[in-house]
Amino acid sequence: MSIPVGNAQTQRHAPKRTPSTRTALIAAVMLALFAGSTAATARGKSNQIQYEYVPPKNPAHLAIYDQMKQGRALENLQELLSPLRLPYPLKLTVAGCDGVPNAWYNNEVIKVCYELLAEMLKNASKQDLPMGISRADTILGPVLDVFLHETGHAVYDMLQIPVLGRQEDAADQFAAYVILRLPKEDARRLILGAAYGYNIQMPQGARVTMEVDAFSNEHSLPAQRAYNVLCIAYGADSKLFADVVELEFLPKKRAELCPYEYEDLTFAMNKLIRPYIDMKRAAKFHEVWTRTVIARRERLARP
Ligand SMILES: [Zn+2]
Repeated sequence: MSIPVGNAQTQRHAPKRTPSTRTALIAAVMLALFAGSTAATARGKSNQIQYEYVPPKNPAHLAIYDQMKQGRALENLQELLSPLRLPYPLKLTVAGCDGVPNAWYNNEVIKVCYELLAEMLKNASKQDLPMGISRADTILGPVLDVFLHETGHAVYDMLQIPVLGRQEDAADQFAAYVILRLPKEDARRLILGAAYGYNIQMPQGARVTMEVDAFSNEHSLPAQRAYNVLCIAYGADSKLFADVVELEFLPKKRAELCPYEYEDLTFAMNKLIRPYIDMKRAAKFHEVWTRTVIARRERLARP
């Protein structure tokens, strides 16, 4: 597995499907066929999320490690993602990556590097921003977005979901869709926080200069990722996100198409992912979120 050296645009690496995963999947499919099994087996089971806080090698990352552990960040994510019905356990890890600010999914493991989390903390707004975005949202938004983006890769891989178009864009869409399932006000703050996290990776101004190879990256450019997440959000709820268009964070011309973009995403999510959601557990999503993450936001409010 090669990990590109992490500038902002090489983050969030695509998954590599290894022969072992493939063999295991083929074996599972064969087993299901011979057992005369029905969709129940094919649809996996819920509560399959595991987690591990790997102690950092770099002492500079100890504070992040401690903070995440005390805030039970991975336990909270475990609970939030527990409605996913997966064929195998999926492990969420935070770990040191020898200086590389990256995150990726590979072989049923999501790894988010302390280096990437440190970068997100460094990029966070020093004070609360207009539009009702707090400093905490500029941390929580990008952090939740990266975990959900990697979960998107995991879901596509583990459930063998076909993806048309670029998987990196599809993983961004998965993340945005899940964030939009949160209570309205939180969804708004975190979508705007995630968009902030992308925007801060861009040179500022109406005209910008970038290295030409940035355009060859498997990810869309950070500005495109920001516009895309805002478009999905505006398409989902044009009242909740009306100011995003009024203040021209999302150009009106694009905004007109966003209801259709959101409709396409909803169609795909309903058709391909919803059969793998434990609806009973999913019904508690708001309650789990409120119970687990609100306290964390209060802690992050202090710089
Ligand atoms: Zn990715």
